[in-house]
Amino acid sequence: MKEHNPFVKAWRKGMKSVALVYPNRYVGGIANIGLQYIYAYVNSKEEFVCERFYTDVFGGLRSLESGRNLKDFDIAFFSLQYEEDYFNAVRILRASGFRGLKVAGGPCCMLNPKPLLKFFDAFVIGEVEGSDVLDRILEAKSREDLTGVEGIYTGEEDRVRRIRPKRLDFHLKSQIIGEGAYGRCVLLEVGRGCIRRCRFCVVRQIYSPPRWRDVRLLLEVAEDYRNVVKKVALIAPSVSDHPKIKELIAGLVEMGFMVSPSSIRADTVDEELMELLVAGGLRSFTIAPEAGSERLRNVLRKDISEEDVIRATEIAKEKGIKSVKLYFMIGVPGERDEDIDGLVELVKKVRDIIPRVSVSINPLSPKPHTPFQWLPYTGFRDVRVGMRILENRVKFIKKELSKIAEVSIDGVERFAIQTILSRGDVDVSQFVESGRPKLRIAERLGLTRYLEEIPVDRELPWDFIDHSYRKVRLIEEYLRADDEAVER
Ligand code: SF4
Repeated sequence: MKEHNPFVKAWRKGMKSVALVYPNRYVGGIANIGLQYIYAYVNSKEEFVCERFYTDVFGGLRSLESGRNLKDFDIAFFSLQYEEDYFNAVRILRASGFRGLKVAGGPCCMLNPKPLLKFFDAFVIGEVEGSDVLDRILEAKSREDLTGVEGIYTGEEDRVRRIRPKRLDFHLKSQIIGEGAYGRCVLLEVGRGCIRRCRFCVVRQIYSPPRWRDVRLLLEVAEDYRNVVKKVALIAPSVSDHPKIKELIAGLVEMGFMVSPSSIRADTVDEELMELLVAGGLRSFTIAPEAGSERLRNVLRKDISEEDVIRATEIAKEKGIKSVKLYFMIGVPGERDEDIDGLVELVKKVRDIIPRVSVSINPLSPKPHTPFQWLPYTGFRDVRVGMRILENRVKFIKKELSKIAEVSIDGVERFAIQTILSRGDVDVSQFVESGRPKLRIAERLGLTRYLEEIPVDRELPWDFIDHSYRKVRLIEEYLRADDEAVER
């Protein structure tokens, strides 16, 4: 594996060792700037050494750097980016025989760590920079040492307030460069949080308030990599909402970089932005209309119109973009057959402008802390019936679109499992322990009740996390969405 790694560190006697475990493939782990920050921070300390673990490197049981066994490390820090990774995380913990301090962090912990409480000593609730939480973890020997620490949940606390840096006036300077999800590139995290209010999305809730990095700081970081890589990946939940996005891309292009943005909203696209992106090497453009009709986009509060999608595609074509990728969701509350027809029609309209189209469709999984957290999975009160309807819609979409576009649709069952892992309580741990991510296993364990609609007055497993929003506001938003879903 060819890596540019400025940190390779020799082990010395008396050093405390930290295993940084990404329970998924290298390609995703190396593209995660949060993990890179922790790695750099721990290795910058004289008396500590940090090494990485990925599932496709020694099965996640030995480190990439020195090939040491996980069980020989003092602390294991797991990053949980996706619910499906819970199975890998627990398999790695069990198979390695690790006996040290087990800590987990990442967005899944910020949403709801209850299904994993049994397997870890502590969970980080929030963003680690700007607090002493990493130092407290490095000093700790047991769960008790971390009980009551700000931004940590050990299972003892009644309430945990999320931690976060107020300003992003810093950026990771030394990065490992590997073949990651964005290719071989330097990662520039342009911001966190989002100014939008999409009702299904966790970003606004768990990374609030939106914070942006200064263009000068970002260009300074890129400058150091001019002779190391050709490409820069711009990372943020909604990159093109950065108030000075054009200035940033123009500066990077002028430095000779290719620029790859993680996401661009269709309604922010104008000729100037598209020209800059094309000058930065963009050849394929991604748009996320999310739903096929204006009515459902309103239910989602996506704030993107069909006009925005068509206009952005036309601009893209004019500036030389050769292919378009479209993201949609199914199982949106109030979804009817005519909304699915609308989705198919919208794809056709885009294809009439740019012939190479790929379409990615996921069922909506209602997430904790969002206004959709109480929804039944599939959007139907009878979830079994809803799943059958969704399966039929998947078949219909495939039939209608597979001749004109490359279609990838994620399974209705897979997202049901994701919903159980995300909205479940401590009893979901038996499902994770089974090592078998199959819905029939969850059903046998009596866990499919986590797919059902939740009464708004019921206490939720994740209510103990304080993300600084008022629950009553979420309820109002949920009820408003419900009204909009049944309208017309
Ligand atoms: S879906 Fe995108 S635009 Fe909407 S709130 Fe989430 S990050 Fe922002």
